[in-house]
Amino acid sequence: MEVYNFGAGPATMPKQVIQQIRKDLPSYQGSGMSIMEISHRSKIFEEIIGTAEKDLRELLKIPNNYQVLFFQGGCTQQFTAAPLNLGKKYHRIALLDSGHWATRAGIEARLVGMDVDVLASSKESNYTKLPIIKKKPADTYDYLHITTNNTIEGTAYSKLPDVGKLTLVGDMSSNFLGQQYNINDFGEVMAGAQKNLGIAGLTIVIVRNDLLSNNENLPSMLDYQVFAKNKSMFNTPPVFAIYVAGLVLKWVKSQGGLVEMEKRNQTKSNLLYDFLDHSELFTAPVIKSDRSLTNVVFITGNQKVDQDLISQAASKGLLNIKGHRLVGGMRASLYNSMPLTGVERLVDFLEKFEKNQR
Ligand code: PMP
Repeated sequence: MEVYNFGAGPATMPKQVIQQIRKDLPSYQGSGMSIMEISHRSKIFEEIIGTAEKDLRELLKIPNNYQVLFFQGGCTQQFTAAPLNLGKKYHRIALLDSGHWATRAGIEARLVGMDVDVLASSKESNYTKLPIIKKKPADTYDYLHITTNNTIEGTAYSKLPDVGKLTLVGDMSSNFLGQQYNINDFGEVMAGAQKNLGIAGLTIVIVRNDLLSNNENLPSMLDYQVFAKNKSMFNTPPVFAIYVAGLVLKWVKSQGGLVEMEKRNQTKSNLLYDFLDHSELFTAPVIKSDRSLTNVVFITGNQKVDQDLISQAASKGLLNIKGHRLVGGMRASLYNSMPLTGVERLVDFLEKFEKNQR
């Protein structure tokens, strides 16, 4: 039975990439060593990380005055690193409270001594829409943190808020490479790899040169300057995860790059939202203008029916459509490597399930 994994991350990967890993695993490019055994100081790995960076720069059109850094520690670690590196003038950052991950970013920033001002929140509407900034924010913030795609709540910024001269820091974890943004609009972008860039263990930071700190008191492992100077090899980087990211980037390029990825994600999510909007059983609670292309949230309003649906879906090979434990209901993650056929199968299943409820 063909299986489709709608999990939010770690998530489905391109089949071709898995096949390539399988091929490479015993002996990487005839070296007689597995990629798992190769030194990060070797020529082989230098080539792998160098090519991954080059391909990422090309795909995202990253300008030369930005660093691309490879971290471990997940995006959560960047909730600490970003304020430490960028929060140096005012020790004060602004936040748009669009849901769980934005809230977490605020909590971590406070833990390292930042004042955090929530400029707008959509908590009252259960995060079914994006928060809107009503007036121009003050200049006296080191940056404004936004979550471009809210993985749990299923909202996304397709247009960035107008923040005047403020530096924007974007947590792009769940629509990185899945939707197009202009890197120039951000001072920093952070993204965990385990959704659209491969496997867990790698986090990408893209940061503008003028924001790199000269603070020698920062812990080295959180210091963007240290990582930039050492080409992300201050210590042993996550070699395997970077190798996988390299393969995923090649795959994205071969498929037509970000224009094509966004187009496909648009088509897939439209198909599902369109079904949900016409259904009498299901509801997609997020307002239309703010809907995520990569994480589609839906509910029936009846927990027992939800549970029944989730287990029936699993028995048909439609896996991991359970919503996040914080919000319940269902969520289908439609990252780059989820094929249209997977979404067609899901819609077909939901349609039949609905008929059987009558
Ligand atoms: N931000 C967003 C938008 C996420 O979806 C996640 C994880 N799903 C995180 C941050 C945290 O990432 P990590 O688990 O890699 O620390």
